[in-house]
Amino acid sequence: MGKIISIVNQKGGVGKTTTAINLGAYLARLKKKVLLVDIDPQANATSGLGMDVNQLEKGVYEALINKEGIANIIHNTKNKNYDVAPANPALAGAGVELVQMEEREWRLSKNLADIKDKYDYILVDGPPSLGLLTVNSLVAADEVLIPIQSEYYALEGLGQLLETINLVQDNLRPELKIMGAVITMFDKRNRLSGLVRDELNQYFPNRLFHTVIPRNVRLAEAPSFGQPILDYDKRSKGGKAYESFAKEIIKLDK
Ligand code: ATP
Ligand code: MG
Repeated sequence: MGKIISIVNQKGGVGKTTTAINLGAYLARLKKKVLLVDIDPQANATSGLGMDVNQLEKGVYEALINKEGIANIIHNTKNKNYDVAPANPALAGAGVELVQMEEREWRLSKNLADIKDKYDYILVDGPPSLGLLTVNSLVAADEVLIPIQSEYYALEGLGQLLETINLVQDNLRPELKIMGAVITMFDKRNRLSGLVRDELNQYFPNRLFHTVIPRNVRLAEAPSFGQPILDYDKRSKGGKAYESFAKEIIKLDK
């Protein structure tokens, strides 16, 4: 049975998508069968994997509103063992449309149940909000992974995020676990970075991943070529960091 990991943080630009694309790529390279589900209307994960969002006839939107089984919208990526359920522009309306639908928090979960056993890992990349799309991603998940940008405001909003996760655990999905937090865009030359790390260690005792993702321009460039870092520049610091992160994730299941 595959493990569904939702990558969540309502703060924008903290590295959710970069983590989803590259963690997924390295898990696949390490012979795990991986599906990345893009439920962010910005569709950055979809385009970052080289797909032209405007050419898509259907995507996660159709799956969520039940026009289409999720199996019918999945594409292979150029990487072996790595599939994507793409976001399409129509998804922008889904947050509102879902409000009046039955079992609105369970739409993604029900979709993924049909294909869960085909994958080792299903990663869900969501939008920077705590709306219904994010709630769907939490309800569908076995575990939540929280990327946190190394910056002065790193902890801002975390209380609200953890509260939302608690609400989902209490009311919708008691089995949901917090997998942990991963620090992104770390700059070791900046003294503040060390302080942020210490503070997060206290906030997430035993739940902060050892791997720290450095700030690395190659990671920022790769999506414009539609490639994960392992194809764009696997020797970069960013590439090595995501490789070690993927190994750390796999180790949790051993
Ligand atoms: P959103 O909330 O809008 O979905 P996000 O949390 O998914 O954003 P990303 O899109 O992954 O964040 O990253 C935000 C920006 O920072 C992007 O331009 C990305 O290329 C860049 N970026 C992410 N991680 C790194 C890194 N480690 N080093 C340098 N740039 C990075
Ligand atoms: Mg994103």
